[in-house]
Amino acid sequence: MQIYSPVQAIHFEHLHPIWVKRDDLIDPYISGNKWRKLQYILADAQQRGQKHLVTFGGAYSNHLVATAAAASRHGFQATAFVRGEAVENEMLLLCKLFGMQLIFVDRESYQDKRSLFDKHFFHQEDAYFIDEGGASAEAVRGCAAIIDELPLAYDHIFCAAGTGTTAAGLLQGINAQQLPTRLHVVPVLKNGDFIADEIAKYESNLNQLTLHTDYHFGGYAKTTPQLLKFMAAFVSQTGLLVDPVYTAKLFFAINDLAGKGFFKKDDKILAIHTGGLLGIWGMQEKLTQMLG
Ligand SMILES: *Cc1c(COP(=O)(O)O)cnc(C)c1O
Repeated sequence: MQIYSPVQAIHFEHLHPIWVKRDDLIDPYISGNKWRKLQYILADAQQRGQKHLVTFGGAYSNHLVATAAAASRHGFQATAFVRGEAVENEMLLLCKLFGMQLIFVDRESYQDKRSLFDKHFFHQEDAYFIDEGGASAEAVRGCAAIIDELPLAYDHIFCAAGTGTTAAGLLQGINAQQLPTRLHVVPVLKNGDFIADEIAKYESNLNQLTLHTDYHFGGYAKTTPQLLKFMAAFVSQTGLLVDPVYTAKLFFAINDLAGKGFFKKDDKILAIHTGGLLGIWGMQEKLTQMLG
């Protein structure tokens, strides 16, 4: 399928310029890296004749909305196990509109996804398991394709990481093409060193990988006033929308590193905008408070 994801130059504070791969423009609901990940997962499900996608996520998961939208578009049924007590919000409303069935499960049961799947779907032969965030070899392959679309060889490519699947794909693409590019990964969770192990499950050559583990701002979906202020300044001055969970932390990291003299003067830097802008609705109160 033809997709629209141009590379665009932006200027901001210490960034003159950096390039941004606009995967956020691929689709508003099957957004960014979630589109990349689901592409081959759905192809695999289709090929196996499976009709019912079953997946997992938190109550503000971009992956759930993406799976719901993709399922309805391609004629699949969809069910999601949602972590935690039953809630309603903008993301889950979209999931339901797209026809996804939601099953809320307590945090402890949520840990063992395979047994949840087995318990609920043992009688359904056409049910297809998709891990949280879409993590899989198919997803890695989908993300590697980003590298094939680039117009030139960048010195540095940056991405945000939750599970590291997207990063694994990018590194696979870089290694496959033997590019001189360094991949910089910004984990959005605390103690992000585990991302290297996750990447190593799919790609053994980590020579061109650098992790920047100090830009989590307290952990997954945590923010600080400093991050939200940065986000507001960045969005208003570049016109590029970012979300507080992933891409605000990504661009903060790149800008901070540039300010500390991390790059050489003519280095070409590319950031992958992995989409996920619906995540803004999970931070409405904090953002409203800060903007006044
Ligand atoms: C899900 C998501 C990520 C995390 O991708 P991983 O492959 O799990 O590391 C990054 N950015 C955005 C916008 C996302 O929605």
